[in-house]
Amino acid sequence: MQNHTLFRSLPKVDKFIEHQDFQNLSKMVLLPILRDALEALRSDILSEKISEVNSDDLHQNILEQYNKIMTPSLQKVINATGVIVHTNLGRSLINPESFDRAKEIATSYNNLEYDLEKGKRGERYSHLSSLFTKLLDCEDVLVVNNNASAVFLILNTFAKRKEVIVSRGELVEIGGSFRISEVMKNSGAKLVEVGSTNKTHLCDYEENITERTKMLMKVHKSNYSIEGFASEVEFKEISKLAKEKDLIDYFDLGSGHLVDLPYGLSNSEPSLHDIMKSNPSLLSFSGDKLFGSVQAGIIVGKKELITKLKKNQLLRMLRVDKLTLSILTQDIQNMLLDKYEDIPTLNMLFKDVAELKENAKVLIKQIKDVVSCEIIDTTTLIGGGSTPNKKIPSIAVTIKIKNYSPNKMQTLFRGKNIIGRIEDEKFLLDLRTIDMNDISYIIESIKCLTTS
Ligand SMILES: *Cc1c(COP(=O)(O)O)cnc(C)c1O
Repeated sequence: MQNHTLFRSLPKVDKFIEHQDFQNLSKMVLLPILRDALEALRSDILSEKISEVNSDDLHQNILEQYNKIMTPSLQKVINATGVIVHTNLGRSLINPESFDRAKEIATSYNNLEYDLEKGKRGERYSHLSSLFTKLLDCEDVLVVNNNASAVFLILNTFAKRKEVIVSRGELVEIGGSFRISEVMKNSGAKLVEVGSTNKTHLCDYEENITERTKMLMKVHKSNYSIEGFASEVEFKEISKLAKEKDLIDYFDLGSGHLVDLPYGLSNSEPSLHDIMKSNPSLLSFSGDKLFGSVQAGIIVGKKELITKLKKNQLLRMLRVDKLTLSILTQDIQNMLLDKYEDIPTLNMLFKDVAELKENAKVLIKQIKDVVSCEIIDTTTLIGGGSTPNKKIPSIAVTIKIKNYSPNKMQTLFRGKNIIGRIEDEKFLLDLRTIDMNDISYIIESIKCLTTS
């Protein structure tokens, strides 16, 4: 066929788009896809790559591209890695009841910044402080967008152009190439790194105090630990020294938990209550690591200091919205009532291995006729930089379809939004992080994978 005849056989945009298949679709999305596709066809005709225009193919191609764009990229996945506070999979899960309550607040008007008693402007942070101060027995509390914001706001408020003494071994990178030292520098504070990589002593802090020093800071090592010839100074001692020298003591705890952790983890990871015993000037931690609530940076400490933080103009940029405040308030109420089973992260952490084994049996029973699978004892991590390198027991089901490699298995499951892990050359689903409400979906997916 001649080029010009081919060109003429290209559909007209207006006509093409009137097809009933496109009727309820967004023209704003559709039109640019169609124009690009026609443009590509034109250039293929010119370069004689094609000798006919197949309008069915074009139709199909456009619908596929459209669906790809219109399918939300943020999706539910099933975490079968066993890592509870999984940094890439959304960290802590929100308690559905707390979320329902937040929905009611956020889909109606509310008193976010309105004092119902006085009938005038109120304070956003007041909704939390009375509850929270009871929970941690502290003078005051402030909540910001996340713990990185908390670090930034604290240093910017109190240590801009002043010195902050911190142990060299605690200047951690916390994932996504995000370095504590960089956050600190960007806040305007001058870091004074003391000690050596593996050892820091109290005298290292003491000897580096000058008239420019404003704060002694401790940072939780989060995602690494030093074995062997190593020592760090406990916050208790840093806090005491700071008070003697009239400086602010601040602990960036990273994670932070209220209950004693199982599997002996509490020996190395003191709880928030333990830390509060040293009466910190300031302490900050994430809302969605082991605390098990929503993304937030929680700052507790001396009322006088929190009041200063509230006056920093930066707070406007770091503040939390009504959804966060509502969820957090609800969760804290549950914690005050000792209803820790309502906190999904803790619920998963405390689940008994025997129970996980029963759950594994439910899964195995439904799939053993179609795949080769086996229940195994294994270990996993809490994650989120809460308890570096500490293993906790778990149960997993290994799965093999045909003679696929573990990598291939992992990819196939990922196609179903099920994220498993590979251990000892085997692909497995770890029961520690699997919600039993998802088990029928998992079974269905496995059956589907064996037949395709
Ligand atoms: C995780 C972590 C942070 C950052 O907290 P986000 O809530 O992720 O912003 C800061 N410091 C330490 C020590 C951490 O472990």
